[in-house]
Amino acid sequence: MENTNDNTTCGCGPKPAPKFPEQVTGMYILARALKNIGIKNVYGLVGIPITEAAYMVQGQGIRFVGFRFEQQAGMAAATEGYLTKAPGVLMTVSSLGFLNGLTATANATVNCYPMIQISGASDPTMVDMKMGTYEELDQLNTARPLVKAAFRCSHAKDIPEAVNRAYRAAVSGRPGGVYIDMTTPALGEVMDAAEAEKLFYTPVDMYSPVAPNKDAVARAVELIANAKRPALLIGKGAAYAQVEDKLKALVEKYNIPYFPMSMAKGVLPDEGPLSALSCRSTIMEQADVVILAGARLNWLLSFGKGKWNPDTKFVHLEIDPQEIDTNRPCAAPVVGDLGLSLDAILAGLEGKKMSADPQWVPSLRAETRSKNAKFAERLAEAAKLSPMNHWSALSAIKPVLAENPDVILINEGANTLDDTRDTISMSRPRHRVDCATWAIMGMGMGSAIGAAVATGKKVVAIEGDSAFGFSGMEFSTICRFKLPVTVVIFNNGGIYNGIGEPMDKTSDPAPTTLDVNARYDKLGDAFGADTYYVTTPDELGEALRKSIASGRPSLIDVQLAADAGKESGHIGYLNPTPLQEIKV
Ligand code: ADP
Ligand code: MG
Repeated sequence: MENTNDNTTCGCGPKPAPKFPEQVTGMYILARALKNIGIKNVYGLVGIPITEAAYMVQGQGIRFVGFRFEQQAGMAAATEGYLTKAPGVLMTVSSLGFLNGLTATANATVNCYPMIQISGASDPTMVDMKMGTYEELDQLNTARPLVKAAFRCSHAKDIPEAVNRAYRAAVSGRPGGVYIDMTTPALGEVMDAAEAEKLFYTPVDMYSPVAPNKDAVARAVELIANAKRPALLIGKGAAYAQVEDKLKALVEKYNIPYFPMSMAKGVLPDEGPLSALSCRSTIMEQADVVILAGARLNWLLSFGKGKWNPDTKFVHLEIDPQEIDTNRPCAAPVVGDLGLSLDAILAGLEGKKMSADPQWVPSLRAETRSKNAKFAERLAEAAKLSPMNHWSALSAIKPVLAENPDVILINEGANTLDDTRDTISMSRPRHRVDCATWAIMGMGMGSAIGAAVATGKKVVAIEGDSAFGFSGMEFSTICRFKLPVTVVIFNNGGIYNGIGEPMDKTSDPAPTTLDVNARYDKLGDAFGADTYYVTTPDELGEALRKSIASGRPSLIDVQLAADAGKESGHIGYLNPTPLQEIKV
């Protein structure tokens, strides 16, 4: 075997080609290893040194979804991981490709989505000596702080084990992103095919759910049974864990109202009789026991402070013990896999006398009814506006998505995110994917592709014009792979809106201004999609109905007024000066 790690040859001499089928390369071994653990899709963007590996992946009957930008391929892999509980796989080239992909892998780790980024990497013996080799970057150490686990393959024989352990690391405990540094010497190494064959093994029990301890369950059961005003707060960890049936049993049997975090909408139906979606503040102020199921008391829940009643007791069902007590002491931590924890709590509650105030649920229902009636009025008013604002557009989208409950909704933007989340009811679990914990822009097209590829379902992405810009070129990927994705762009010509005033010292556009007259539908034309340009709710409703029914790549440019939308006001402490008051 040639020693490609030999600095005297700089690893850059010509290599003998393998003699197929008696010999195989590390690239083949990688593809076989992925196949062996059941990977069905690989998302990536080829180039030196992984092009051949991508062909090998296809050769194994794995779908290789080729992107235009690695970050979006990574968003797709992460979305597959979230929706299926099996890690999505991202394949990137070295240096910049690796870094572009790492953004998505880091985002997956923060959001607890399982994924594996496999990146080609230059020979580490050369990188470590700073020889100035091709695409030199210490990728392993760059990735380490941003991922859950990281492995380096320096030899082809290590690849199957690295892939198997990466899978375990991605899905075990709190799920997250895992990195494999796939060095060029390992990828190009030639092995005897019969020897390589011995490397593959079928790993046993890739995800082993951990049960909570008995005392913790008993403590939680006591609190729930004695609660006067209990509530269940559902996070995307519960959506991921696929525990909707157990949550349904819990709330229905014990008459517990629930409210979901954004991506947990639909785990239990938004419009169900125990849904307290419209009563978030009331629950924060009045619930005495809150069961947190797969959610964190982070910024999205005011760190458990602010409006939250200081006397509220939390029962926290959580896989990661280090999460407990974050921002607020927890009365009853239940550390374990959500499925097993809920089984234990349901068993413990069996036959217990519940103490809830009989007025609690009816009062939330009355509040829900009155708020929903006001909201409906607001939508009906907006539907009459010309030009449209976000609510006018959503008034047209709402009934169409209600007719198509199995469509997966992807959503990003500022006002487009807030207003869509508030308007569109979800009735099925894992049918909403959005900017999530980091509230990032630039997850849209990648997530739409991942959702369509991983589930085979129809997808609608509702995008702000700015948000779409981050990943818009991937619309070509949607078209190339003929995916049943409809992209709806709310064009108000800017970030927040299109009426930003530039500082008086410049003739440039304001920092928040984009193109309110842009015709995004023509981008769709370039790639052969069905496209629509709409200016009224009726036109929008009809276009959306048609595009969902067709199952074809479709793009709808929704013309809004430039003054529709405001600076995202929900997090005032992060933007101290309202935009219109910024002065120098
Ligand atoms: P949201 O943004 O919806 O509040 P978060 O991402 O903040 O959701 O929280 C999800 C939580 O779910 C994380 O703390 C994660 O550790 C937890 N989690 C993920 N999978 C499981 C599981 N199988 N069992 C229990 N908890 C889980
Ligand atoms: Mg905009």
